[in-house]
Amino acid sequence: MIDLRDDFPILKNKIYGQRLVYLDNAATSQKPSSVIDAISDFYKYDNSNIHRGVHYLSELSSDRYEEARKKISTFIGSSDPSEIRFTAGTTDSINQVAFSLKSTLMGNEVLISGMEHHSNIVPWQLAEAKIKTIPMDEDCNLLLDSIEITDKTKLIAISHVSNVLGTVNDIKRITEIAKEHDIPVLVDAAQSIQHLPIDVEKIGCDFLAASGHKMYASSGIGVLYTNNRYSDIMPARGGGGMVDKVTFEGSTYLSPPLRYEAGTPNISGAISVNSAIDYMQDIGLDKIRKHEHDVYSYAKERLLDTDGITVYGNNEDMCGSISFNIENIHHYDLGLILDKMGVAVRTGHHCAQPLMKFLGTEGTVRASFALYNTKDDVDILMDSIEKARMMFS
Ligand code: PLP
Repeated sequence: MIDLRDDFPILKNKIYGQRLVYLDNAATSQKPSSVIDAISDFYKYDNSNIHRGVHYLSELSSDRYEEARKKISTFIGSSDPSEIRFTAGTTDSINQVAFSLKSTLMGNEVLISGMEHHSNIVPWQLAEAKIKTIPMDEDCNLLLDSIEITDKTKLIAISHVSNVLGTVNDIKRITEIAKEHDIPVLVDAAQSIQHLPIDVEKIGCDFLAASGHKMYASSGIGVLYTNNRYSDIMPARGGGGMVDKVTFEGSTYLSPPLRYEAGTPNISGAISVNSAIDYMQDIGLDKIRKHEHDVYSYAKERLLDTDGITVYGNNEDMCGSISFNIENIHHYDLGLILDKMGVAVRTGHHCAQPLMKFLGTEGTVRASFALYNTKDDVDILMDSIEKARMMFS
């Protein structure tokens, strides 16, 4: 067991006088001191705009920004940092792909799963594509042998890990199927990049989207991996920094990644991503994974062992989030009561309304885990649930 709570200043805060048990990590993670310091040091010592300056600080900031690009590129298994563009987050990354592919998607179909976050549904609708879903069984496991691909299917867009259930989808297999039909695959890695090893080259996906704030970095920064096969798709943003020549008649664009990063990017955000990856790598990714697996399995076991609790989804491969409901207590009421006991969970539809419909519920209570959670946190969660049940009995 590792205990990393001391690395996270916010976890020292008392909530209504009690230990903070932060189980809302799928919404956003807390930040270690090293990441907070990296952001603060950037503004204290290095701050300048990047790429266009000739002065010392501009070169320093540019180098640090590009170092961050290299770091995330290696972290997700891309051998070419120009395949990485910084965005504002997963939502922005997916919207950029939807905009760029709109002429192909319009009037055609995007195949997704029934457990997608709204961020992997609505952008395709804005691109005027029709949504089709991969069938799933009652435990919310995708039935990959029943995937239906038609001439109209132009993209498969799939979450690696469900933000509601914690189900890990077999994205490698999905990519293999897509390849047989020559269809690109976008992986929404918002809930996996902080928990699982990612290797875009092994997965064989064409796009992969993730958010910094869910992987111990700051908010407002994200990444979009775009395989070089798609290096010339239409930029979704226009402006300074992405152009070669501009005239009133038309403009030409730089090569990726700058072609896709119009305007001043979130420089300190990129630096925070670099620092967050350093933090995880210094602890050791295998060690983190083992620890998270132990805590997650313990939580699942304890929830499943409790009478009157419905745990949603069941797969051998799960991580991050667990969703449940308790007999006779509305999810919202339980969330409020847990909060008073210092336990932060999320309640509601978790931006996955179609999944809620499939599960036959309006909402769930979601406990979601990060590397600093421990079995003690799970025990406090379970004791608090028991107290809440007593109040309602
Ligand atoms: N996709 C999934 C699976 C998510 O869980 C989330 C956020 O919870 C998003 C996309 C959107 O991420 P962001 O709000 O950081 O853009």
